[in-house]
Amino acid sequence: MAKNPLHCSFCGRSRDEVKILIAGQEGHICENCVEHAREIIDQELTVKDDKGSSSFKLNVKKPIEIKKFLDEYVIGQDEAKKTLAVAVYNHYKRLQQRTGDASASGNEVEIEKSNIIMVGETGTGKTLLAKSIARLLNVPFTIVDATVFTESGYVGEDVESILSRLLQVCNYDVVAAERGIVFIDEIDKIARKGDNPSITRDVSGEGVQQGMLKLLEGSEVLVPPQGGRKHPEQKLVKINTQNILFICGGAFDGIDRIIARRVQTNTIGFNVDKELQEDMKKNLLRYVNPQDLKSFGLIPELLGRLPVVTHLDPLDASTLRAILTEPKNALIKQYQRLFELEGINLTIENDVLDFMVEKAVEYKLGARGLRSICEGILTDAMFEMPSSKEKEFALDLEYAKRKFDKSKLSLLKVA
Ligand code: ADP
Repeated sequence: MAKNPLHCSFCGRSRDEVKILIAGQEGHICENCVEHAREIIDQELTVKDDKGSSSFKLNVKKPIEIKKFLDEYVIGQDEAKKTLAVAVYNHYKRLQQRTGDASASGNEVEIEKSNIIMVGETGTGKTLLAKSIARLLNVPFTIVDATVFTESGYVGEDVESILSRLLQVCNYDVVAAERGIVFIDEIDKIARKGDNPSITRDVSGEGVQQGMLKLLEGSEVLVPPQGGRKHPEQKLVKINTQNILFICGGAFDGIDRIIARRVQTNTIGFNVDKELQEDMKKNLLRYVNPQDLKSFGLIPELLGRLPVVTHLDPLDASTLRAILTEPKNALIKQYQRLFELEGINLTIENDVLDFMVEKAVEYKLGARGLRSICEGILTDAMFEMPSSKEKEFALDLEYAKRKFDKSKLSLLKVA
């Protein structure tokens, strides 16, 4: 009897003997072999360090490659992308140096890490950038929100639990965690209120910043592995933060006024041409520097440990339009895929896309709002079509307008 032509090209098992057979160009692979291959890859990618524990093999991508990768997911924001690409690349280089290169070559110069702070309005892609970097990396990566932390001894989480998250993502492998990257979101929410150091204790702001210092500067920190204070009996784990890269992000609402004041003071008396002044006013965040962040309420010691400051541009209509269709997992592509899974071909006319952007701008909803607008327009279709026999859905402007006007969003208009 002829052998069943469908079999795993690696182990030879036939179609009936396996659950899944994935087709390649000239052969197939079964789930057992995928699993086995995965184990081999893990072993190959894991190197042993001098302490004998495992750590992540460093797969260094050049800054230009890192930026290209980010371009696939994030529209615009070139400066932030470049800054991140360089910081992450240097992070890798520093890690390599630590694994013996520097001492082997007799080169004693130790590269210090450059933690980053990203300033940009909410919804301009800070988290998206961080997440996209995470896709690319093979070091442990975690995102934490600064708003949940309070000074030690108060209700809320201790800053040390930032590291608990990192430990959790790498299965409590301390050596791996010590080379990770942490994205701290909403760092502006722990700014101290007012420019003056507080006389009373500022539970939500300055105390937390103080707490963060020791994490950022590179010291040994005792971390509750499960995080939080719910498990007082847990044994603390010692983590050295010297090689952990911290990327902070925040909207810093109102910082444009601080920048404007500084820029204006600096330019008084100089003959700065009108056009340049107008241009500066359009996007003041471009000029943000540590001094502005200090005026906003970050303490100088913290800023000293976040030496790289970069900004994200506000999203204009043409960027929003590109966000709808261009990124690798753009919203419109996602909806088309959802419909495709029902066997329906969804086409969206260009004027519908323009309409969505127009509403996002008009209602000041930003990029996040694009999703709600799409939902508002497409929910009825997604509700009805799976039960119908239609194979085509051409979304035109008249339909989009009608559904949008009926949706809750149309009530949201900001005056
Ligand atoms: P932030 O962290 O700055 O508040 P996010 O990164 O969470 O903003 O952005 C919210 C959503 O908006 C993202 O999930 C993404 O869909 C979209 N978005 C924002 N900015 C961009 C951008 N520059 N390119 C592509 N998508 C973006």
